[in-house]
Amino acid sequence: MGARPNATYSGSCHCGAVRFEIETDFPELTTCDCSICARKNALMVKVHESQFRLLNGMDSLTEYRFHTHTARHYFCKVCGIYPFHRKRVTPDFLGINVFCLDGFDPEGIPVRKTIGKGMP
Ligand SMILES: [Zn+2]
Repeated sequence: MGARPNATYSGSCHCGAVRFEIETDFPELTTCDCSICARKNALMVKVHESQFRLLNGMDSLTEYRFHTHTARHYFCKVCGIYPFHRKRVTPDFLGINVFCLDGFDPEGIPVRKTIGKGMP
């Protein structure tokens, strides 16, 4: 059971070039201590790729890869905002920056700290 009703939530980067929708009930939010998430100070929700739709902005997304080059960290090349990334250990899943969701309030959703730093 999630902390919210299962529903479609829309999100965007800051300039609006990148728009997407996710479907989730927010079972939890995660933080991560890996070198990139720590710098982004990201608070994320994990969704399967079938629950994710990119509506606009494929051309505006730039992809950044590092380390094992499996995880794909996307950001908007116009405004620099990180809206989502594709996960390394579970590449069928995306981590969504919940602060990019329209009018989203994380209040009341459990937050789990994940350990990225120690991953080989
Ligand atoms: Zn943008």
